[in-house]
Amino acid sequence: MFKAIVIDKDEAGYRAGLKDVDDSALPPGDVTVRVAYSTVNYKDGLALTGKAPVVRKFPLHAGIDFAGTVESSDDPRFEPGDAVLLNGFGVGETHSGGLAQKARVKADWLLPLPAGLSARQAMAIGTAGYTAMLCVMALERHGVAPGSGDVLVTGANGGVGTIAIALLSRLGHRVVASTGRTNEADFLKALGAAEVIARDELSAPGKPLGKERWAGVVDSVGSHTLANACATTRYGGTVAACGLAQGMDLPGSVAPFILRGITLCGIDSVMAPMAARRAAWERLARDLDLAKLEALTQEVSLEGALQTGNDILAGKVRGRVVVDVNA
Ligand code: NDP
Repeated sequence: MFKAIVIDKDEAGYRAGLKDVDDSALPPGDVTVRVAYSTVNYKDGLALTGKAPVVRKFPLHAGIDFAGTVESSDDPRFEPGDAVLLNGFGVGETHSGGLAQKARVKADWLLPLPAGLSARQAMAIGTAGYTAMLCVMALERHGVAPGSGDVLVTGANGGVGTIAIALLSRLGHRVVASTGRTNEADFLKALGAAEVIARDELSAPGKPLGKERWAGVVDSVGSHTLANACATTRYGGTVAACGLAQGMDLPGSVAPFILRGITLCGIDSVMAPMAARRAAWERLARDLDLAKLEALTQEVSLEGALQTGNDILAGKVRGRVVVDVNA
């Protein structure tokens, strides 16, 4: 038996709760993992509360990512005792996931834990931090180099936002953090933001083009914020869009694309190819200041993840929440 946050939906309604479950509850897969840490990402919040149809198979163990140790493996790439991590691939959505003391998954979905990161640090980074790295790499691919101008990070106090700030500032960029919580300005500056601006500078309906401000943007917010970020990106600049904390809509115009030649890069972490994942995790192990990672991380128990799911959707979580599934 092991503990898991089980999400179920039937005549009694949609619910998530901590349960003791048997190994027979694990789905088919090549590798069984003893999970050490998982996390609460925004998508986990949606899954735990049922506020969006993230979970599409019931009953299911929640958790879109985990790090732990291989218990048994039918695949030659992994042996018992190997330290591994997983994020995405529908885990925690259509396949039981990491908010559980055990998981069974396809070997194709697993990555070795990168050298230099503990299981706890890997999950403090989690899907949000790995997505922040994918955004940074997209900016780099499009020529946003240190010294090329300010880089805007929206949703600055969130999981993607905090790790993007820490990464970009360490890489030498001048980071401008946009937040609804300007009372957290000191925290954001300690992570590496050079300047903090209020969320409402960007979140209301805006003009097709505004003053050119950003060489690059990491946006986890979407909606008017993303439209305004594009409208204020400098000639030839690049915007990496990964999130929808404000909304899924994109109420902008083509003006920034056809008059300023900006690039809008879509970032998906879930089905990103293995090569991109490996590169992102290797970069995280190398480029993220682990003292800053610790400063933006709080820890909860498996049961505590249920409340955190509500908190993250309410915009009350600062930084990242790591889950010790054995606590
Ligand atoms: P968090 O909840 O940790 O962060 C989101 C942040 O957005 C909040 O902290 C808040 O920052 C800001 N925010 C919240 N509500 C609003 C609002 N109504 N208007 C404007 N800003 C708002 O979530 P994550 O960082 O984990 O994820 C961020 C987004 O990225 C989510 O939409 C998530 O689904 C998406 N995502 C997408 C991935 C992909 O593969 N494309 C992978 C990972 C995440 P502040 O208080 O500083 O303003």
